[in-house]
Order: sequence, then C-alpha cells, then structure tokens
Amino acid sequence: MDMDFPERFDPMRLLLSRVKKPFRYIGCDWKGSTEGLEGKKTTLCLAFPDAYEVGMSYLGFQILHSLAGETPETGVDRCYCPWPDMEAELKHNSVPLCALDSGKPLKEFHVVGFTLQYELTVTNILTMLDLGGIPLRSEKRGPDTPIVAAGGPGALTPEPFAPFIDVFCLGDGEILLPELLEVCRSCGNERKTVLQELSRREGFYVPSSTPAGKEARFRRPFRKQVVKNLDESFVPETMVVPASGIIHDRAAVELFRGCTRGCRFCQAGMMYRPLRERSPEKVVEVARKLVENTGWEELGLVSLASCDYPGLEKVIAELEPFLEERRVKLSLPSLRMDAFSVGLASRLRSMGRGGLTFAPEAGTQRLRNVINKGISDEDIERTFDEVFRQGWDRIKLYFMMGLPTEREEDLKGIIETGRLARHIAKKSGKRAKVSLSVAGFVPKAHTPFQWEPQDVRRKLYEKGTSLKREAKGNGIRLNYHDPDQSFLEAAIALGGREVSQAIEKAWKKGARFDGWTECFDIGIWESAFEECGLNPESWVNRPRFPEKGLPWDHIDVGVSREFLLRERELALRETVTDDCRRGECHACGWQDKGCPIPGGRNR
Ligand code: SF4
Repeated sequence: MDMDFPERFDPMRLLLSRVKKPFRYIGCDWKGSTEGLEGKKTTLCLAFPDAYEVGMSYLGFQILHSLAGETPETGVDRCYCPWPDMEAELKHNSVPLCALDSGKPLKEFHVVGFTLQYELTVTNILTMLDLGGIPLRSEKRGPDTPIVAAGGPGALTPEPFAPFIDVFCLGDGEILLPELLEVCRSCGNERKTVLQELSRREGFYVPSSTPAGKEARFRRPFRKQVVKNLDESFVPETMVVPASGIIHDRAAVELFRGCTRGCRFCQAGMMYRPLRERSPEKVVEVARKLVENTGWEELGLVSLASCDYPGLEKVIAELEPFLEERRVKLSLPSLRMDAFSVGLASRLRSMGRGGLTFAPEAGTQRLRNVINKGISDEDIERTFDEVFRQGWDRIKLYFMMGLPTEREEDLKGIIETGRLARHIAKKSGKRAKVSLSVAGFVPKAHTPFQWEPQDVRRKLYEKGTSLKREAKGNGIRLNYHDPDQSFLEAAIALGGREVSQAIEKAWKKGARFDGWTECFDIGIWESAFEECGLNPESWVNRPRFPEKGLPWDHIDVGVSREFLLRERELALRETVTDDCRRGECHACGWQDKGCPIPGGRNR
C-alpha cells in the first residue's frame, strides 16, 4: 500500500513531541484517490468533535469523506478535536487548528461540517471553532468566515447547538451533502446567499432564518430527507485507512438503515426509519471492493441489528471463501439474543473466542415488555446455553436502570440474569466470566419515552452501588455508567435553545471531552447552569406533558406524534408491539410516505 506523507509545512506538526498520542495529528493515513484542495471551487473540512481514534471509527464520517471527494469541484479534508494537551500547545504557540491532510487552517475553508453524534461532544465543537479561528456564534461570523454546517442524529434535536451552527442538515448525508455543496458552488460560496438559499430547501434548517424573537417551534416543520434505495445511493468503495490503531479498526459495509424492532427507548430505532435494506448482491460487491482497496484485516457487517438482515447467511456464504483467502476477519457488531445469532457467531471463527456481548436492557420480562425489547426469558436462557456450549467462557450484558415503571424486582432481575449465565455455564463445565454494564436511562427526543423523566442522580447512584454490591456477592463483575454524565446527556438532549448559554459558559470554564470519564467534571456544568439561571432538573427529572410543546417539535423525522403517544400508552400497559418487518404495519408515520416494507406501503 502506498503511504502518502504530505510534504507541506504544518505548524501543528512542530508540537508533536510535546503531546500524548501524536498519531492523532500526523495526517499520514492512506486516502485512496482523494484529491487535494488545490484548484477546487468549494472546500469542505469535515470535523468530528472527538478524538481522532473515535472519529476515524465512525462509518458515517467515512461515507461523507468519500462522497465529498467524488463531488465535482470540491476539495475535502478532515479534522478531529485536539486533546487538551494539544489544545494548550496550539494556544500557547498561537498556532491555528488545521485540517489533517492539507494543513490548512479551518477558517480558510468554505464549509466546516460537524458530525453531531453524541451530546457530550458539544464543548469540543466550540474548541474546534475557537482554535480554528471561527467565531463561536453564528451571529458574529462575517462574510469571509466558513459556513458551519452540522449533520448526524444531533441535528434532529438542534436547539441547544443552534447559536453555534449556521445550517443543520436533517437526514441522510448522501442526499444532503451534495446538495449543500452544489448550493455553495452556485452561490460562489457567498455566505449570506448560501444560507438564504438553503433555508428555502427541504432538509436544511438555518436557525438564523427564524425571525428574531420567534421561537423555532412556531416555524414550519423541517423535514428529514432520506435515501430511498440503498442499492442506488452512494456507497464508498474505499475508505481512509488509519496509519495507527483506532477503536473500530476495520472496513465496514452497512447492511440496512433504519430498524423496525420498535424498542421504545431507542432514538436511533425511531429516527432512522424507514427501513431500507441493501441487496445481498450489493453488500457482497461493496465488501469485496472495500477489502481489495483498503487492505483492512477485518470487515464489519454493520447496522442497528445486523442479525435481522434477511440476506445475512447468503452474504456470509458468498464472502467467506474470498475473505479466508485474504485472511480477513468477518465481524457482526450487533448480536441478537437468540440461538441463531450465537450459531452464526460461532461459524465466524474470525469473531474470536474472547467473549460475546448482548443487550437484554432490562432484568424482567415485564420491564422488557414495557420497553418493547422483544426478548423472552426463554430466549435469554437458550442464548446462554448456546454461548457456553459453543465454547465461549466470557459474556457481557448491557442493561439500563431507571427505565419508566421500573420496580425493585426489575433491578434484582439484572443480577438474576447474571447469575443465570453463571449457572448455565457451570452446567457446561465452565467457570464463566460474566460482566454486566448498567447505564442510567436517558429519555430521548422522537421516542415514545420523550415525555418521561429521568431518575434523579442520587437515585441512580443508589441503584448503581446497590447493584454493584449485589453483583460482587454473586461473583459477577458490574460497572455502572456515571449518573452525572447521564444527567448531562439528558440535560442537553432534552433542552431548548437556552441550554446553549450553559454550554458556552461550561466550555469557557474548561469543560472538554465530557464523554470521557477522565475529563468529565460535573462541577463545571453545575456552576455554568446556575450562572445562566437555568435549573436542568426542571426539564430532566420532571415529566413533560404531551399537551405542551417540546423543543424539537419543529423537526419532522417522519415518525408521527400519534404513533409515539400510542406506543407510550402501550408501554404503560406493558403491552408489546410486534416488529412490523415480520407482521402488520403499526402506522408509525411512514405508511403514506413511501415505507418500503410490503404491507406498510400505501396503508
Ligand atoms: S409504516 Fe408501518 S411497516 Fe413501515 S416502518 Fe412504519 S410501522 Fe413499520
């Protein structure tokens, strides 16, 4: 493989000897045929507000990078958030934040496009803007500053980020990015004209186009745009290959987009509807090209629930000889809790014997019915049985605490499930390592639980410590997610535009990489909210009433409010809703907007 070491003067490189993990900043990754910025009409810097090794692992970012590289007259580069040690060095030496491959400062691009993947990366956006020489707030940006765009799931709850972003792209990047770039080109990258033009188009939300004094929720619904046919849409045949280890160090092909399982807590499952499947033939074709073009030693077949893909066996059967010949491992990152999935994992010797991970989410059948997690007690038992029979001796299970209607026995059920795993392992003659990971429930926008409160932090701490104690007594490892982080996640996820003040204040006080436990400091956020006169408990820990408006009401993700309310009712009655991929349509809102599922269409 040819490595292209850019021959350029990049002041950031001068600081490499003084920071941890300098590989984050060297820009020596292999980028296939991506051309430089030279002579391009519009230049785009894709910005990921987290560390290099996280951003490089994100498939969506790779898709956008390839897509922009193939868009006519567009030059593309990328940038990840510098770790606080590099931030300090850049500031101390008055060096601007530069894009990784060209070494060009962020402020010299026409467009800087952020991926909003996780609420707790928001302060990193401010760090990148500030170091890149771009004013933090849209209202302070002059005609020569880049257009700051944002996409990804966070764009569908835009208000807390709105003052910092010029335009939100709502929906699939394969449609929106080329359109955004085309508007930039045709408007000569003239900031005001571009934003005016975008504000008239579907799928773009320009907060500054909301007349002053009027709340965004009174404006027209801004509709998410979706790719209708994954086989016909853009798919990368090569990717940026890292020069050093990253979190998910593999090539990846998306099997399908969207999910119809209908888990009531899951934002991705609701937001990414409708379901669109890539044909097995296309998956195989893309997978082969990716492996040949990148030289990666692992290929992931990814989607929200990969084992639900009807063509999975066919894809694996066709790919196996090809991958074996090249010694490439095949992995399925999301395993369903059933014997079929374990059998499949077992067939993929490449998935290793290290251990398997599943997400029962709740400890009892009753609570799993409430959240619509379609797993029965029998499924769990059969899965454990199969896991240990097939030779694994480690298992990791994900749960949530503080779910709506949770009772004492549901928490006990978490430990009971861990004990059951150990018991079944013992029957197969194994001393299994069982680890449980428990996160506090975060109510999310555009889900049936968007009106539910989060448990107060004290309660989550009590539940977490009591679970940990119980687990220890039963020889099980248990970790629980920091309730302060879950609280902040909810405060941003459920907040309105006023939260942006606290975000800016917290950033000024030093909040950085809030999703990383070693950097997170809730004290900073508590004082920031207080100084802004905001009490996040008032919207995080209290229920919202359906008759009142929500800060994201102006964003239409396609799933209807009526469906969400109906699902909420069913949750409270502990009643499950079947997966519409296998049964009848539940009229989620996509039924008359081109849902491609037979039976769902035109109902
Ligand atoms: S419209 Fe019907 S079939 Fe389509 S995703 Fe919604 S509930 Fe399922």
